[in-house]
Amino acid sequence: RLVLGIETSCDETGAAVLDETGTILGQSLHSQKEVHLKAGGIVPPVAQRLHKENISRVVQEALDRSGVTPRDLTAVATTVKPGLALSLGVGLHFSLSFVRQHEKPFIPIHHMEAHALTVRMLQHVEFPFLVLLVSGGHSLLALARGIDDFLLLGQTLDEAPGDTLDKVARRLSLIKHPKCRGLSGGQAIELLAKEGDRLQFQFRSPMGQHYDCNFSFAGVRNQVTMAINKREKQEGIEPGQLLSCVQDIAAAAQHTVASHIAKRTHRAILFCKARGLLPRNNPTLVVSGGVASNGYIRETLRIVTETTGLQLLCPPAEFCTDNGVMIAWNGVERLKEGKGVVSHTREVTYEPKAPLGRDISTEVRDAA
Ligand code: ATP
Ligand code: FE
Ligand code: MG
Repeated sequence: RLVLGIETSCDETGAAVLDETGTILGQSLHSQKEVHLKAGGIVPPVAQRLHKENISRVVQEALDRSGVTPRDLTAVATTVKPGLALSLGVGLHFSLSFVRQHEKPFIPIHHMEAHALTVRMLQHVEFPFLVLLVSGGHSLLALARGIDDFLLLGQTLDEAPGDTLDKVARRLSLIKHPKCRGLSGGQAIELLAKEGDRLQFQFRSPMGQHYDCNFSFAGVRNQVTMAINKREKQEGIEPGQLLSCVQDIAAAAQHTVASHIAKRTHRAILFCKARGLLPRNNPTLVVSGGVASNGYIRETLRIVTETTGLQLLCPPAEFCTDNGVMIAWNGVERLKEGKGVVSHTREVTYEPKAPLGRDISTEVRDAA
């Protein structure tokens, strides 16, 4: 069985062909990151145009590199939710004409489910396991109970940690910093933080009084912005000209984000343990999303999992970010369980907003 996976939910056009063991036969990825970096954020119509310009080539490249023709494919799996409407539309439109032309089954994919399950392509991980997804667009904790059965324990109430780090990096003009050329905001912060002293700045960790597993990062960004404003005023310089303590600010901001993520994850672990939701044998925390490639954040999480007796799994960075591989893998898992192939492609639509699984409050209410 061979599955072609197609991803266009945000700013990467990705395609990959996988066999049912999870071997990647070939893949292709076109990132729009540089274009959006220059614009200071994703402009949806620009993302849409770039997806349109690249999708046929990316899919063809993935097929060529796999040595596979459309005829050999068992099914096509494509991200249909959640994401930017204009971006999702391009992938779905392309995929539907492709499956109609080649008469292939179509499997719509939930982008966040795909992130959560990618680890199973790399190693044997049994359900249930705890997942932390931290990226530029998301921040959530969920219990994965099956390939399409997730219990949402918490999510961000405002922005995602990658977004926060990107905004801080932009406020500090790190894009112009000689050491940070071509790096994302989060990568720039991680690099500079290594040379900084986080104790030079003190930012409060959010939501100390919230006894749940939700996240909030906007307050961190406000505190960091205020500290930057104050310094710039003290030094009598224009916004974005700060050089003296950029490393210290990066270190303190990264520490506050890491510590918030760790505290919420700790709560989720204790909650799952108290309710017997995790297996006694080898309970596991899987961490994914672009922010999961941050070494400082990983180490902070390692302390949490070590003290609570969990195994910590972080897939390599290339599998933590958006690509066609994770979408194809989700298609493989669905095929194996006989789930998700649509009977009428006419009825398939994309959904910009789509929560991952059942919300914990719904679950508690229904159980009562
Ligand atoms: P989503 O996948 O949720 O739609 P996205 O495409 O923006 O969002 P990813 O591609 O998974 O997210 O990751 C990109 C984000 O990860 C950016 O915000 C970037 O700053 C952040 N990031 C990447 N590397 C690091 C790092 N080393 N430390 C912290 N953040 C990082
Ligand atoms: Fe993603
Ligand atoms: Mg992305």
